[in-house]
Amino acid sequence: MKLPSNPCIRCGKERIKGKEQIVILNSSKTKVTSYVCPDNACQKIVNKQIAEKEERKMYLINRSRERANNRHKAQKQTAQKAK
Ligand SMILES: [Zn+2]
Repeated sequence: MKLPSNPCIRCGKERIKGKEQIVILNSSKTKVTSYVCPDNACQKIVNKQIAEKEERKMYLINRSRERANNRHKAQKQTAQKAK
């Protein structure tokens, strides 16, 4: 009996082995296997969703970084005024 251990986030089908990539992790080579949905059209949609999520995440990270920078600048200015 084989339970879907790696189901597709969209349709729930068991994902199949996709691309194998060699990445350098902690200065040692590691093989990373990506698993994809057996349904090509579905996988395309999933990829798109992941890309959109990543984009949004990057946008939020950049925005909070900018905010932190601005706050830091404002604090500096107040400190200088106090002198
Ligand atoms: Zn799928």
